[in-house]
Amino acid sequence: MSYQVLARKWRPRAFGELVGQEHVVTALSNALTRGRLHHAYLLTGTRGVGKTTLARILAKSLNCERGVSATPCGECSACRDIDGGRFVDLLELDAASNTGVENMREILDNARYAPTSGRYKVYLIDEVHMLSKGAFNSMLKTLEEPPEHVKFVLATTDPQKIPVTVLSRCLQFNLTPLPRALIAERLAQILRAENIVFDEAALPLLAAGARGSLRDALSLLDQTIAYGGGEVREAGVRSMLGVVDRGYLHRIVDALIASDGSALLAEADALAAAGYAFAAALDELASLFHRVAVVQAVPGAPGGDDAERIADYASRMSPESVQLAYQIVVQGRTDLAIAPDEATGFSMTLLRLLAFEPMTEGEPAPPSRGEAASTTRASATPVRAAPAPPVSSVDRHVTTIRAASSTTVAAATPAGADTPKLVLPEAAADWPAFVSKLRLNGMAAQIAAQSELKSVRGNALSLAIPATHKHLADKAYADKLKVALEAATGRKLLLAFEIGENNDGSPAAIARREREEARTASEAAFRNEPFVRDLVARFDATVRVETIEPAVREAPLPSSTRQETR
Ligand SMILES: [Zn+2]
Repeated sequence: MSYQVLARKWRPRAFGELVGQEHVVTALSNALTRGRLHHAYLLTGTRGVGKTTLARILAKSLNCERGVSATPCGECSACRDIDGGRFVDLLELDAASNTGVENMREILDNARYAPTSGRYKVYLIDEVHMLSKGAFNSMLKTLEEPPEHVKFVLATTDPQKIPVTVLSRCLQFNLTPLPRALIAERLAQILRAENIVFDEAALPLLAAGARGSLRDALSLLDQTIAYGGGEVREAGVRSMLGVVDRGYLHRIVDALIASDGSALLAEADALAAAGYAFAAALDELASLFHRVAVVQAVPGAPGGDDAERIADYASRMSPESVQLAYQIVVQGRTDLAIAPDEATGFSMTLLRLLAFEPMTEGEPAPPSRGEAASTTRASATPVRAAPAPPVSSVDRHVTTIRAASSTTVAAATPAGADTPKLVLPEAAADWPAFVSKLRLNGMAAQIAAQSELKSVRGNALSLAIPATHKHLADKAYADKLKVALEAATGRKLLLAFEIGENNDGSPAAIARREREEARTASEAAFRNEPFVRDLVARFDATVRVETIEPAVREAPLPSSTRQETR
C-alpha cells in the first residue's frame, strides 16, 4: 500500500471537519442553508490556513448531486470528483502563473457557458493579488454581474494589493492563523486514528513550528514520522526542528542574572557544540522572556513545564529588564543575517543582554543584575551592594549605559541611635572612608563630599571647602553635617570651615580621580575587545567614550555625592 501524505489524506472534506475558522464556516453554512449565497468571496489569510480547502468544500456544497446544502454527501460522483481534483466545473487557477489580460479574457469568456456536469461553475483564483491591472479590469464586469451559474472564490495572502473596485464586489473573510493548541489537538486526533505511537510533549513543538498553518503542521508530522521510524518522539522532534533544549536557555538566563559573562559565553559555545542553530536559540530565548513578562503582568499565568523557573526569573528581573532583554534578543535575531557569522552574532547578542540595563526616571534604580545576585547573599544591606569584583575578561568592560541623572538612589539611612557609633578619623586620609560610612544624604552629603579634613583636636573638627563650593559652608548646611556627625559618633562636636583653593583629599575629588582612572581602563579594555576592534575597523565606527562606565565602581558613596561629582 502506498503511503499517502497526511496533509492530503486528512484534508477536511466537509465544513464540520475544518479546524478553526468557525466564523467563515458559520457564515457560509448559513448562506447555503438559506439559499442566499453571494456570487464572489474573497478569502484572505496566510498560507496553509485553509483557503483552498474551504473553496473546495463550497464547490461540493453547490454541486453535490443530492442538492445544494452545507453538508455535501461526499459520495456522489460530483463530490468525489471535486475531492479528487478532477471536477470540470471547478476551475482552479493560480494567478501567480496566469497574470495577463489574455488569460483572464479566455477564462471569463468561458464563464458565459453553462456548467458541463454540475450546477455551478466555481472559479477558484488563488493568489489573486498577482493579477495584472489589465486582468483585474477585464474581471470587473463579470464580477459585477456574473451569470447565475457562476461563483467566484478569490484567495490571497495579500489583500492590500487588490484594487478597491474588486474588493467592493466581494464578500471578504479573513482566515486567521490557527492557535497552537488547536493544531496540537488535531495532530493528536490524526495520530490516534493512524495508530502511530507518539509523545504528547512532541505535539506543541510541532504546532509551534507550523506557525499557525495546519498544512505545515501535517508536513512536519510526516517528516517526524519518517525521521522517527514510524514514531513521533519528543527528542526526535526537538532535533529535527532544531528546538533548543531548555537547559541551555535556563543556564543563559542564570548567567545573565548573575552577571557572569564567562558563563554566558561558555553557554554559547556549548550550544554551538551541540549543533543547535543560533537563530532557533534566539527565538526560544525571546519566547522565554515573553513568558517571564506574562508571569510578571499576570501572576499565576500558566507557564508550561518549567513554570517554577519562569516564576523565579519573574521575581528576580525587573519588568523593564525583561522588556529590554526581549527587545535585544529579537533585534539580535534580525541582526544574525548581517553578522560576520552566526556565532559572532549570537555571542554579541548575549553580550548586549549583559551590557545594557533599562533607564529609570526619578525612581530608585531597580536592582541591577549583579546586585540582585549579591543582595540574595547579603539581603540585610540597606543600600545598594557594590557589584562583585570582576571575575572574567568580559566582566571587566561591561558598560552600563545610563543617563547621568538617573543614578539617584534611595536616600540612605542616617546613622540612628541603635547603630554602632563611629570613631572620628584622625588623619585626613581616613576622612573619605569615614564619610562613606556615614550614609549621608541631602546637603549634609554634599558638604561632606566636598570637604577635606584638616585637623581633629578633641571635639573640634576643622574642614576645608574649595572656593568653588564655598556656598556649602553656609551655617544652615554646616549644621546639618554637624547633626549627622554627632549622631554617628555620639559626641558633641565643633565644626569649623576654611575656604581652600583645591581639595585633593575630599571624597568627591578622590571619587572623581578613581572614576577617571577606571574609565580610562575600561575604555582601553573596551577598545581592545576583538568585536569592538572589528566594528571600528569595518564601519569606521567611533567609540562613544562617554557611554562607557566602569563596571567596577568605588565603594558606594552617598547618592547625592555621586551626582555632584559628575
Ligand atoms: Zn455529493
